[in-house]
Amino acid sequence: MRVGTLFGIAITIDVSWIFIFALIAWSLADPAGPLHRADLSAVARLWLGILGSLLFFASVLLHELAHSLVAKSRGIKVLGIRLFIFGGVSQFDAESSDAPGEAWISVVGPLTSLVLGAVFAGLSFAVGPGSGFGALMGYLAFVNVVLAAFNIIPAYPLDGGRVLHSVLWRLGGDRERATEISLRIGRTFASIIVVLGIVEAVAYNVGGGLWTTFIGWFLLQAGSAEAARVALVRGVRGHVAGELAVAPELLVPADATVARAAQTMQVFHVHAVPVVLGERIIGVVREDALTALDPQTREGTYATAVMTRVDDLPSIAAKAPADDALAQLVGNPARALALHDEAGNVTGVITADSVVAWLARANAAGAGPRPVATSAA
Ligand SMILES: [Zn+2]
Repeated sequence: MRVGTLFGIAITIDVSWIFIFALIAWSLADPAGPLHRADLSAVARLWLGILGSLLFFASVLLHELAHSLVAKSRGIKVLGIRLFIFGGVSQFDAESSDAPGEAWISVVGPLTSLVLGAVFAGLSFAVGPGSGFGALMGYLAFVNVVLAAFNIIPAYPLDGGRVLHSVLWRLGGDRERATEISLRIGRTFASIIVVLGIVEAVAYNVGGGLWTTFIGWFLLQAGSAEAARVALVRGVRGHVAGELAVAPELLVPADATVARAAQTMQVFHVHAVPVVLGERIIGVVREDALTALDPQTREGTYATAVMTRVDDLPSIAAKAPADDALAQLVGNPARALALHDEAGNVTGVITADSVVAWLARANAAGAGPRPVATSAA
């Protein structure tokens, strides 16, 4: 859900944030919650709970904005900020090309949270920590300090892990080696957090322990996603964008119905298929464009009616380096790229699935005469 734009940066909120919002408002409104020392009516508690939720949201947003604005000032294009259940994430179209840049972009988030913590603590003392508003400010000061402390854990891809990465990179001069080490350290920390969470849940605090476990698990996932991304970037190095194109057997003709396009996607386990008119690629149909249609409509609708036209896709030269294509694919809302030859004719389409299929083929070829696992069943 897109909520707006700040400093030219698109802000989106995941629906899972509603859960966090409700959880914070509810826990603050609870008479036994963080505001328990203040003498308040139920209505006042509820209002303070909602205000607290909004200010927590603003705190996380400012943390992410700090990352994004520093990245922007260093010439990195910011694709947007996304807030989701475990906090926020700033999306850039490229990584910092130097270690100090990465360190600054990463450290400024926790620093912002610390400054916010100090501001809220100051407000709390100014109005008196015994009052409802003062207690809320005190709580937000605490939350921001926790946010800073958690993010500075050197568990890649947390901020602290990125700072560690930049230090290792600077010291060793080898960026990929630094990434490998950081990912390994990050996985260790994430595993420790999972174990601590389970112990906490079993020993004394089921809710808090499960939450800690979830966070550790999320970090493990984020770490493996990052490892996969690094492996992918390394895998495509030296190849050209054209090699990543969707295979010809996946193309559907322009007179195909939505039902037929859906069937092709199902058979080949892909989430998008290009549409061709004769020899010419004219667009891409994505799975999420079909899910809203009922079976009857699918039979009676042409795929061309729900496709993204090829002119509306970002385009890249078939001879361009494959890692450039990957960078363009990430964060592009159509999740597809058009390939063009020197004359400007569209020669193919790249999707996330076609990249995965290429990588599977490349791995199989590299590992000798092992049979290629195909999903065409
Ligand atoms: Zn951060």
